Amino acid sequence: MTFEYAPALESRSIVEIKSKYGHFIDGKFVPGKKYFPTLNPATEEVLSQISLGTTSDVDKAVAAAQKAYTKTWSKMSGKERGKYLYRIARILQERAREFAVLETLDNGKPIRETRDIDIPLVAAHFFYHAGWADKLDYAGLGHSPQPYGVAGQIIPWNFPLLMLAWKVAPALATGNTVVLKPAETTSLTALLFAEVCQQAELPNGVVNIVTGDGSTGATIVNHPGIHKIAFTGSTEVGKKIARAIASTDKKATLELGGKGANIVFDDAPIDETVEGIVNGIFFNQGHVCCAGSRLILQESVADEVIEKLKVRMTKIRVGDPLDKNTDLGAINSKEQLLKIGELSAVGDAEGAERWSPACSLSEKGYWFAPTIFTGVTQAHRIAQEEIFGPVLSVLTFRTPQEAIEKANNTPFGLSAGIWSEKGSRIFWASQQLKAGVIWANTFNKFDPASPFGGYKESGWGREGGRHGLAAYLKTGKESGAK
Ligand code: ADP
Repeated sequence: MTFEYAPALESRSIVEIKSKYGHFIDGKFVPGKKYFPTLNPATEEVLSQISLGTTSDVDKAVAAAQKAYTKTWSKMSGKERGKYLYRIARILQERAREFAVLETLDNGKPIRETRDIDIPLVAAHFFYHAGWADKLDYAGLGHSPQPYGVAGQIIPWNFPLLMLAWKVAPALATGNTVVLKPAETTSLTALLFAEVCQQAELPNGVVNIVTGDGSTGATIVNHPGIHKIAFTGSTEVGKKIARAIASTDKKATLELGGKGANIVFDDAPIDETVEGIVNGIFFNQGHVCCAGSRLILQESVADEVIEKLKVRMTKIRVGDPLDKNTDLGAINSKEQLLKIGELSAVGDAEGAERWSPACSLSEKGYWFAPTIFTGVTQAHRIAQEEIFGPVLSVLTFRTPQEAIEKANNTPFGLSAGIWSEKGSRIFWASQQLKAGVIWANTFNKFDPASPFGGYKESGWGREGGRHGLAAYLKTGKESGAK
């Protein structure tokens, strides 16, 4: 007998979405000149109109951030700055359900994830960095490290509020002020965060939010009043930013793409591993730069793992992101859906074998069934390029050395997973893997104390932990220290 889940819809009445939004500059919302729509990707309903930031908007935001830096924020003690961060963290917790519902509406990700992962981690990032604000002298970064000034921060659509927290919390804790641009398809939670800044009575101009597209982002990157860039997004845009700042003294952290290897050795506990594989690739619809998108299985257990994985995939519930039972929500945009479809078609054409469980997808909105490709080889594009969707490429290996060589054979180096019951094998493999984050017998675990970042085309620098603070501080001679 099969049993069906009754719908368990989260109410959206807790959020109030305005018909249009201006930018948040110098503590106030100011109208934009042109607007563009933001949609609910699960239904294609237009949620609101968002301002398209112009050069003049960016100029005003940078001027406000500069003034706030000089007059207020850089003069304030770390202890006082910390109090604002604690206040923001507590308000975020109080308003967590509102943020979770809004994020789900604007992004398409399941409420279970926004409620249990995104928003709690957002608050955790503010709490964590609040604690650092008055202890920077003891962070091991030298005596009296100093902020840069105004940070320009550009974030993607896959974890909209969480990426904001990764950027804003360390910047404020270290005494920098901020001009942030959310991604064009997911600005709403950043604009609600602007209301939280008002509610926390954060001094005007410390956080400025200018909405818009890539041209607005480029204007921020090229603005002479910006001293540090923090970017998360595609490798393609990351390269453009690196080129744009190459002849300047702007500092940058770039969190770019990935093609994470999830390696399963023959002694791995198979049932737990299957859960980890599902979490590695289907969490957040696979819109995760550190997703375990390449499954590398030891040949002797490959058939068993694939068989169990397929059974498990038939249980993934795809559907209304506001339903508390939903595991896999909507793809964030039509453009992203097209990209996923195109690369998957390349997988078919290259001879890999595609499999998805039967699932009925809504006609409205942007949907892609959970998918695996078996028989993938190193030469296939789906083994090399980031699909950024719920699509897993499966490869096999015979010897541990072969697993490492395959895992490292991409232009990226962001994340990797190792599944084995042998501690010595886990340590050996983690030392060979060229990836910034390596999980053992788990996947996609995040913590504000843990530095995150990549090697090779996955980016520059680290976010989170002490390493993340360093990216916002001048240390040693740079700070003027003798
Ligand atoms: P994705 O593929 O995840 O959409 P993008 O790199 O295109 O990633 O976008 C990430 C962020 O970078 C978005 O906020 C986007 O508007 C912004 N962006 C796009 N092009 C540029 C650019 N040339 N300079 C600065 N920011 C950009």
